[in-house]
Amino acid sequence: MHLARFPRVFLAHLPTPLERLDRLSKELGGPEIWIKRDDCTGLSTGGNKTRKLEFLMAEAQALGADTVMTQGATQSNHARQTAAFSAKLGMACHILLEDRTGSNDANYNGNGNVLLDHLHGATTSKRAGGADMAAEMELAAQKLRAEGRKVYIIPGGGSNPTGALGYVNCAFELVSQANDRALIIDHIVTATGSAGTQAGLITGLKAINAQIPLLGIGVRAPKEKQEESVFNLAAKTADKLGCSGIVSRSDVVADTSYVGSGYGIPREDTLEAIRMFAELEGLLLDPVYSGKGAAGLIDYCRRGRFKKGERVVFLHTGGSAALFGYDAVFAEGNKALRV
Ligand SMILES: *Cc1c(COP(=O)(O)O)cnc(C)c1O
Repeated sequence: MHLARFPRVFLAHLPTPLERLDRLSKELGGPEIWIKRDDCTGLSTGGNKTRKLEFLMAEAQALGADTVMTQGATQSNHARQTAAFSAKLGMACHILLEDRTGSNDANYNGNGNVLLDHLHGATTSKRAGGADMAAEMELAAQKLRAEGRKVYIIPGGGSNPTGALGYVNCAFELVSQANDRALIIDHIVTATGSAGTQAGLITGLKAINAQIPLLGIGVRAPKEKQEESVFNLAAKTADKLGCSGIVSRSDVVADTSYVGSGYGIPREDTLEAIRMFAELEGLLLDPVYSGKGAAGLIDYCRRGRFKKGERVVFLHTGGSAALFGYDAVFAEGNKALRV
C-alpha cells in the first residue's frame, strides 16, 4: 500500500502531536490516557476534515473544478475547513447548511463555524432539517453548472474512499509515533459521525496489522447503522488501496450510548467531558463530536472497561470553533468568584 500514488495537496500540519494527559489520567485513576492532536491540523482552527480534504481537494483540482460544494449541519466543522481550503486554493465554495437541530439561538446560527465559513468567502444556503442533502447538492450543482461553473461535490463530512485516505495515513502516523517511543497502545477511541475517520483508521490499522482495537463513539446514528456505514466505507477504501477484504465486520465497533436526544444536542456528560478536558488539561473539545467522544472515553475508564496499566489514545478530532455557537449551554455551570 502506497499512499503517494494518490493526488494530495499538502496543507495539513503533520504529524500532529501525540501527548500524555497526566492530570486527566490521575483524576480518573484508570488507564494512562494519551491524545492524538488532530485538533492541530491547521486550516482555520484545524480538525479532522483537513486530512480528508488534502486528498479530496487534490481530486477537485485534477478534475479542473473551479467551485467546491459541500453540506453539513449549521455548525459543521467540515464546512468551515472546506471553506478555508477553497480560499487557500483560490476556488469558489458553496455550502448547504442543514438545520439539523432546529435551534433558534443567534450564536448557534451565526457565530462559531458559520462566522468562519463566511469569513473565508464561502456562500451558504439553508435547508430544513431532514432534507435529502445529497440530492439537494446535486440540484444546486446543476444550477451552477448551467452558469458554466465546474463544480466538485464533496459529500457530507468528506466521507468517501478518497477522503478516508487521510485517516489511513493517520493510522500509519500514529502507530509510527508510538513505535518510536516504545508506547504500546491498548485502545484507540474517537468520535464517529459520517464514518470517514473511523473507516480510514481501521483500514490503515488492518493494513499494517497493528492489532489495536478501535472504538468509535457515535454522535448521531444508532449502533447497527453506524457500524454498517463505517464497515461499508472501510471496504470501499480497502478496494481503492488494492487490499480488498482486509477489514472484517467485527473490526468495526461503535458505541452509540452517548448520543442523547440527537445530533448536535449535548448531554450532561458531554458538558462534563468538555469541562474536564478544559480544566485539567487546557484542551478544548466541542459539544457535537469530541465532547461526546470524550464522554464515552471517561465512562469506559470509570467503569473499568479501560483498565489501570493500559494505554488509551483519544483521537482529538477538533471542533472547538463550534463552542462559540453553544455559549448558552455552558452559562449555567460557569463559576463566579466574588473578591
Ligand atoms: C466530522 C467530525 C467528526 C466525525 O468524523 P467523521 O469522519 O464524520 O465520522 C468528529 N469530530 C469532529 C470535531 C468533526 O468535525
